[in-house]
Amino acid sequence: MRNHQGPQTLAIHAGESPDPGTGASSPPLHMSSTFCVDAPAGFSAHDLGSESPFLYARWSNPTVDMFERKIAALDGADACLATASGMAAASAIFFTFLSAGDHVVVSDVSYAGVAELARETLPRLGIQVSLVDLSDPQNLANALRPNTKLVHAETPVNPITRLTDLSAIAALTHQAGALLSCDCTFASPMGQRATALGVDLVMHSATKYIGGHGDALGGTISGRAALIKQLRVEAGIHHGGILSPFNAWLIARGAATLPLRMRAHQSGALEVARWLETHPAVTRVLYPGLPSHPQYDLAQRQMLNSSGMIAFQVGSAEQGRALAQTMIEKLDMVHYAVSLGHHRSLIFWMETAALLASSFRLEGAQAEGYRAFAGDGIFRLSVGLEDPPDIIADLGRALG
Ligand SMILES: *Cc1c(COP(=O)(O)O)cnc(C)c1O
Repeated sequence: MRNHQGPQTLAIHAGESPDPGTGASSPPLHMSSTFCVDAPAGFSAHDLGSESPFLYARWSNPTVDMFERKIAALDGADACLATASGMAAASAIFFTFLSAGDHVVVSDVSYAGVAELARETLPRLGIQVSLVDLSDPQNLANALRPNTKLVHAETPVNPITRLTDLSAIAALTHQAGALLSCDCTFASPMGQRATALGVDLVMHSATKYIGGHGDALGGTISGRAALIKQLRVEAGIHHGGILSPFNAWLIARGAATLPLRMRAHQSGALEVARWLETHPAVTRVLYPGLPSHPQYDLAQRQMLNSSGMIAFQVGSAEQGRALAQTMIEKLDMVHYAVSLGHHRSLIFWMETAALLASSFRLEGAQAEGYRAFAGDGIFRLSVGLEDPPDIIADLGRALG
């Protein structure tokens, strides 16, 4: 269902309708794993049609279906598959569209779990993996091969906020006959119109901005109906990493306010980022909404909302580590914790040498490319929905 209503309307109404049985205005939570059908039905995943009645919750469930329609509408896509987590969404893409002997290009910097999956599991299954800095489309042009089936990007990339020009890499990917997937978790569906820019598979960790309240794990993949059907059969029905109805219900409730929250995340982050830039202990601030971001022009062109994710440096790795300890002791309101996109502000120290050696395993020019953004380490700050002056006051307590 493509819909031309505005995002605030879609976030609230897409996928929903009053319950025909009760008139309930809010979407009911259907905790049912199986469904009584009124005609004998096939039991193979391949019997699944677009008009099939609900049969078994691994195929689909009314509450999960409501959530999937909402996210498809927000992503500007035909359809969506909801998964148990963001990682389940990433692995669904890799394990549905790649086979032994295929080649995949994966962003050389990515969410750490995706980075490790691409470096450890895919090669073990006979899939050729090229790790490429996709922020320069020429690097992708050089990496594509006749057997390239998939290009997996992430923009802004976790944790350094480096951007990738999605239209440019979509054109190259499609010329090569491959599919483009993009992890849009940092941007959320509000941050960029990934489907309109040519992305075939738009992936989110719904644990982050979409859910927005830090209380449920989930993931989503949006795209054309035929691609999502393929994902539902393989990754959903056969691999089984589907979203539970309870989490779909919780995350859908969060998603209803996503457009409003993203505006507040953006304006709060801009205020905090500007303050960080003036702080004497801070040596570098990376935020796509600031003119000092190395790809500010691309951010202005591609992003509709610069989100709430900031990375900042404070000098050497030792200084960063010491400040992380001070934060754990002194922060009063901002939580020193991983994850992001919640209503609560979260901060975490990420040391470059450790990340390059563990998750990313980059050397030479690619390691330098990472250091060009991260230096010896960054604090990844997810600016929450508290009053910006309170976030600034709390960070100021730790930064001195
Ligand atoms: C958190 C995150 C993931 C993984 O999502 P989970 O829901 O934790 O499995 C993937 N990509 C990005 C960019 C993330 O921030």
